[in-house]
Amino acid sequence: MTTGLPELIDPKGFCEQGRVLSGTLSMKQMARLQAVVLEPLTDVEVDLQFSLEGQGLRVITGQVGASIIVECQRCLSPMEMRLDCFVGLQLVADEEAADLVDDEWDPLIVSGDGVSLTELVEDELLVELPAVNLHDVGECQSPSSNALNGPVAGESIEPSLDKPNPFEVLAALKKSADE
Ligand SMILES: [Zn+2]
Repeated sequence: MTTGLPELIDPKGFCEQGRVLSGTLSMKQMARLQAVVLEPLTDVEVDLQFSLEGQGLRVITGQVGASIIVECQRCLSPMEMRLDCFVGLQLVADEEAADLVDDEWDPLIVSGDGVSLTELVEDELLVELPAVNLHDVGECQSPSSNALNGPVAGESIEPSLDKPNPFEVLAALKKSADE
């Protein structure tokens, strides 16, 4: 399902024509994203510019974004999350060409003419999604978090030093996922 956006796009042709795609996509068709999202709060907002750069590089720039509800993996209750992805794709013909792409661009391998816009946008959102979803400390409903925050009314409790910082855990997990 698309709103004013084509399902199949021809990225090479679009770049040559300098096309702009702006509109929203339903998350219903994005099975991989649905697997981790409890509920979409918005449609996926798409704003993409297809253009030619420098010496004939075909590139796609712009943004895709959506608000979603995911499950906190510590307390298992829902949490809202905003995904905003800045897109910087360079079209290439194959894996070999993809290896040569400059750091400022992410390669997009386009072998045929037609590419699913939904899949392209879903890929961008999946990259943006954290490996682990956790509430901020203090917002989390987990028993361990309550024990930490709640024993004495009116008295502030210093976070225990031996409790792992969720951001460090997240960073470590992201790092291992990248390797
Ligand atoms: Zn939580």
